[in-house]
Amino acid sequence: MKKAMTLTYETGGNLYLNVTNQCPCACVFCIRKNDDGAYGSDPLWLEHEPTMEEMRSALAERDLTKYPEIVFCGYGEPTMRLDFILELAAYIREVCPSAVLRINTNGLTELYYPEANGTAAERVAKAFDKVSISLNGGNSEVYNRVTRPKGLPDNAFATMLDFAKTCKAQGTDVVFTVVDVISAEEIAEAQAQADALGIVLHIRAYIQ
Ligand code: SF4
Repeated sequence: MKKAMTLTYETGGNLYLNVTNQCPCACVFCIRKNDDGAYGSDPLWLEHEPTMEEMRSALAERDLTKYPEIVFCGYGEPTMRLDFILELAAYIREVCPSAVLRINTNGLTELYYPEANGTAAERVAKAFDKVSISLNGGNSEVYNRVTRPKGLPDNAFATMLDFAKTCKAQGTDVVFTVVDVISAEEIAEAQAQADALGIVLHIRAYIQ
């Protein structure tokens, strides 16, 4: 495993922020299983979790105005550092008011961030313009098989759906994603789940 302090990287014209390697899941499609980076980036395994100073320094090397989206991602789950990312998002808004901020999340924050007291989704929704949530399946059984949440209560699927509903209720642009590691029938079920909540579903191709 190669390590580096790659805190920002470009993909598809957007700027991605690597804020943490922590994650409570082990998704079967996770890019981290097969690589040290993403889409040709430098290694994204971090020598240590970045400080706010380090993130600000890395951002200062970029022209933030040129990116359609600035994406909080990680080589991990960004909301594992909820307070950190909310502070960082506020900082980017301060230095680049035109920035469109997106977060890619598993939506399980309430399960591993009890300090949030049920406010995590609302706080995320208010801090970001777009929230992309891993739906991963149309029911709890498929979800657990694909996401493999570690040491979390077995209400992970319901918690993730509640997170999405709260974000949508805040008026934030919410999308769900599934990766095509599940069957066509299971994708159809995921689509029905997304439709029921009025949330767009993006179906992503699995990348080896
Ligand atoms: S939530 Fe994201 S980082 Fe975590 S295992 Fe799944 S794909 Fe990988």
